[in-house]
Amino acid sequence: MKKILIIEDEANIRELLSYNLTSNGYQTLEAEDGIKGFEMSIREKPDLILLDLMLPGKNGLDICRELRGRGVKTPIIMLTAKNEDIDKVMGLEFGADDYMTKPFSVHELMARIKAVLRRSNQNGEENRLTRGELTIDVERHEVRLNDVEVELSMKEFELLKTLAENRGVVMTRDKLLDQIWGIDYDGETRTVDVHIRYLRRKLGEEEGESKYIRTVRGRGYKMP
Ligand code: CA
Repeated sequence: MKKILIIEDEANIRELLSYNLTSNGYQTLEAEDGIKGFEMSIREKPDLILLDLMLPGKNGLDICRELRGRGVKTPIIMLTAKNEDIDKVMGLEFGADDYMTKPFSVHELMARIKAVLRRSNQNGEENRLTRGELTIDVERHEVRLNDVEVELSMKEFELLKTLAENRGVVMTRDKLLDQIWGIDYDGETRTVDVHIRYLRRKLGEEEGESKYIRTVRGRGYKMP
């Protein structure tokens, strides 16, 4: 269930939002001032924030800017009173994803919430690489095979990720060494072979099999 944080000082609007969101299958959290709202944005990790512009304690623009400044990417829909400056609200520097002007139609707001959540999910998908039954979640550093997690070392993970990102392209041992161990690493290219061997074993691949990692003789490796 998606969790939506409502930061709004007017109790009747908060109630209206909470009621409608709950009946649309969302879980809601509420904050009635900017300071509490800011803290909850970080602590509760909501999936989306409905953020009023004029708030006691800390205003909506400051909350938005400070969250983005801390690298918090939670989608934000700003709620503004009619006369407030929309351009300012949507200014890129504040990093809001959308806005609605009060009084707003609940129906319209629900549609915007859905759209913003869909967009943010798609962004999440980009951080996932898949190849057959194999899924590499780049953000979480997690690899799953047939939906079972495969425990990989950091280097094994980097190797697999690099091959998946360059699918179909032969990666030479030197290139892999540079990219994963760093240009200053003066180990041997055999290091790559050893890690590939472990990686294959963990992925359940035999020497001759090559579903995920193929040896290209004399050149390197690739993910077919
Ligand atoms: Ca307000």
